[in-house]
Amino acid sequence: MKGELMLQLDRWLRELADDDNHISLTYVEIAALAKDDLGVTLDYGQACSTVKRGGFTCASTRAHRGPPPAPVGGLTFVEFRDANIKRLFNTEKFKRCIEWTSDQWLKAFIGEVGELCNIDKKVDRGDYDGREREALAEMEKEFADIQTYLDLWAWSKSVDLTRATVAKFNEVSDRVGSDVKL
Ligand SMILES: [Mg+2]
Repeated sequence: MKGELMLQLDRWLRELADDDNHISLTYVEIAALAKDDLGVTLDYGQACSTVKRGGFTCASTRAHRGPPPAPVGGLTFVEFRDANIKRLFNTEKFKRCIEWTSDQWLKAFIGEVGELCNIDKKVDRGDYDGREREALAEMEKEFADIQTYLDLWAWSKSVDLTRATVAKFNEVSDRVGSDVKL
């Protein structure tokens, strides 16, 4: 990395850090934020080395901004986001999607919804008769693909899905008079 860029990143990280040089962001979040705040694209390794070179300490992968995430079957939205972004930045094929527009994420998302619907259509048509378990396994994969693209699309808009999901769920509960809250 060029000297001026390194200095710029150091200055920026100092602003993010507390008195103990601790930054309550994961490396992945730092990479995403550097893109938003400075227009600098850092891959996961560069984010790690930049933070370490400046003597900063990063939060663990569970750290995040906002309220603690609720565990969802042993996986949190934050952990999923971390892995999703790490793979996006670390994979030659997926790197091409980093700068995707909302329209492009929408196409990817809808594409996966279409794949799910296509299997369900075949189930309705009887193509999977006697092989329902196989159909469900195929559908499971598409639900997962949908979730992956949804998370990446939300990331591209800097949306914290934990916070958004909790807030919206509770808002709806209030609206319908339910005491079920996240
Ligand atoms: Mg798929």
